[in-house]
Amino acid sequence: MEKSLTVNYQEKPCYDIIFDRSFDGLSGAIKNLGFENRKFAIVTDSNVDKLYSKEVENIISGISGKVIKCVIPAGESNKNLSEIEKIYEQLILEHFDRHDLIIALGGGVVGDMAGYAAATYLRGISFIQIPTTLLAQTDSSIGGKTGVDFKGYKNMIGAFHMPKLVYMNLSTLKSLDERQYISGFAEVMKHGLIKDAEFYTWLIDNLYEICERDIDVLSEMVPRSCDIKRRVVEKDPTEKGDRALLNFGHTLGHAIEKAKNFELMHGECVALGSVAAAYISWKKDMISMEEYYEIRDMFVPFGLPISVEDIDVDEVIKLTKSDKKADSDKIRFILLKKVGKAVTDTTVTDDEMKAALNEILYVENND
Ligand code: NAD
Repeated sequence: MEKSLTVNYQEKPCYDIIFDRSFDGLSGAIKNLGFENRKFAIVTDSNVDKLYSKEVENIISGISGKVIKCVIPAGESNKNLSEIEKIYEQLILEHFDRHDLIIALGGGVVGDMAGYAAATYLRGISFIQIPTTLLAQTDSSIGGKTGVDFKGYKNMIGAFHMPKLVYMNLSTLKSLDERQYISGFAEVMKHGLIKDAEFYTWLIDNLYEICERDIDVLSEMVPRSCDIKRRVVEKDPTEKGDRALLNFGHTLGHAIEKAKNFELMHGECVALGSVAAAYISWKKDMISMEEYYEIRDMFVPFGLPISVEDIDVDEVIKLTKSDKKADSDKIRFILLKKVGKAVTDTTVTDDEMKAALNEILYVENND
């Protein structure tokens, strides 16, 4: 079983996304790119290293000149320039040149960092992505956005740098912890909500299998979700227009994430932000009340939250203004016209956001 998609960049085929259930096809795919006998640097994190590095190393060592490994300590707090420096140091020490290859093996943190190192080392060398989280497979490995956090600002330093290949071994999703997997799933739901009503319904129909991580269902879900992201990034590769639709649920979601001091997972905040955005869409007569409640309630069986406690609504609204996606002082909110159709809206007021946040605010009933 092997499926693939081709992603265009500036209207030309740029890289393939290969969906597989093992790493077996990896060396053939790298060979096809013309990197045989070149040096490979596997960039991974301390968790993924223990799980998959050895296997990947064994598979690719047959076609490489030399394989080295750069291991970043796991976690967002290490997505910074000093860890990037350590990667540069290893590459220099091992005499990597422009014809060699960086291989990102891990979640979105590893993909963004390895991609950024590849974008900047010697003014740019090639890299491929081997994403191992649901978020990385369906979202961050596609589209060429790379970067690191800087002095508390998320993804503040970065570059657009397209991978040469995205290779997914869907079986790696089996070892992800439950909360991590479900958090990634929030972005899959989002893809359906903003662009593809049929896919959204399919997700709901396959609830049980998705939660069980049934490999046959994952083999359909991940490529369909990637195809939605592919279509969006192809239309707007450098985030000037349509790509903003991917921020559905993120304006209030990011603000809640910060207000809760990153105690909640990103995808959980995206679910909360999506419920709030759907509520605003209802209040603006873009969707019906029934549609709003249906959208809200469908997050629940997947284990995603639809309410949050202990947030200061005014503080959350303030935090939306410091989101770097805010367009000068106007917030580019993403709302729904219906399931499967998102639109940009710059007219959302603080009062509308406040009402939406009060809707998702969980208040304990003391009766
Ligand atoms: P992550 O990379 O931190 O991975 C989450 C955790 O899962 C880590 O502890 C990791 O070690 C572990 N892990 C990874 N794969 C595993 C596996 N198969 N089995 C067991 N454990 C595994 O987090 P993430 O959610 O994958 O990515 C989040 C990052 O992605 C953020 O930094 C975010 O800014 C970035 N992002 C980038 C884009 C983009 O377009 N470039 C888009 C969305 C998010």
